[in-house]
Amino acid sequence: MDEQLNLAPCGFFVLNKDLEIIEMNETLRTVLKLEHTVHFQDLLTLPSRVYFQTYFLPTISIHHQVREMYLNFKVEGHTIPVLVNVNERNGVYEGIVVKINTRNEYEAQMLAARKNAERIQKETDLANAKLLALLEDVERKQRELELLNTELEKLAAHDELTGLYNRRVFQKELALAVQRVQAKELPGFSLAILDIDHFKKVNDIYGHAIGDKVLVELTHKMRTMIEKPHLLARIGGEEFTIILYEPDPHKAVALVEKLREHVAVSPWESIAATISLGITPFREDDNANSLFTRADDALYESKRNGRDRVTYL
Ligand code: GH3
Ligand code: MG
Ligand code: MG
Repeated sequence: MDEQLNLAPCGFFVLNKDLEIIEMNETLRTVLKLEHTVHFQDLLTLPSRVYFQTYFLPTISIHHQVREMYLNFKVEGHTIPVLVNVNERNGVYEGIVVKINTRNEYEAQMLAARKNAERIQKETDLANAKLLALLEDVERKQRELELLNTELEKLAAHDELTGLYNRRVFQKELALAVQRVQAKELPGFSLAILDIDHFKKVNDIYGHAIGDKVLVELTHKMRTMIEKPHLLARIGGEEFTIILYEPDPHKAVALVEKLREHVAVSPWESIAATISLGITPFREDDNANSLFTRADDALYESKRNGRDRVTYL
């Protein structure tokens, strides 16, 4: 027997047809603590011998091989469980023997590895679930933040009492309109400033709360008369501006005149009020400041000339 087979990590044996051991490697000899060759069945415990006799011979004669026979060797009063595979070849039976406790060790290691893999999988699943929950939390917070931002933008752009655009938006929009006319993107526009007449008296006589109602009611009246794309804004206490995207200045004047009349003649739920207006078109060489100052001058003219009127400059 060659050296490799002799010292192979499993037992090797050859039986003749009478089931006598005619060869055995050193590995098996060491396990069985055998000095001399014996009959194979003599090596087995009684139950294994019965099993071997009833199973091995019929199987090998039909299939010429036997796979995974679990047998017990008896060695010096001890039982050694083994797994045996046998092939029939050249009229003899060649077999290998693996000690089952060795195999059990492999199985135990594999089982431990599997358990470990399962534990890691569980931990990974748990971590993923946590991550998902965190992600959902972040997404929810992001949505809340977006809502808050929208709310904040609305607050930053609008006047609280009337809901109209505030001075900041008006100034931005005016600068943009000036830019667009200068770039010939816009054929022209007019700016109107209006102010409630004798509003201080309303507050003095009826109180601030009624004054507020007048401001809100005036807003409704303005909204009915001035529609998009024109832009209405409240730039101060009882001062409002209108950017009129109407290229014809006379049509723009006619529009604000209609507004003044509507405010003056339509019924009021709170306290009747009138408004004075100044209006002026954007002219060449104008900038936002010069335009605003001229519109304000026009408003002042209306006040000076008796109020409840429109002045065009
Ligand atoms: P004029 O016709 O010259 O414009 O007279 P006026 O009384 O309207 O003008 P004045 O500037 O003297 O008074 C404006 C008043 O507007 C002063 C202030 O009490 C009032 N006012 C400003 N903002 C508000 C507001 O938000 N609510 C109320 N109720 N009153 C306001
Ligand atoms: Mg006023
Ligand atoms: Mg005023």
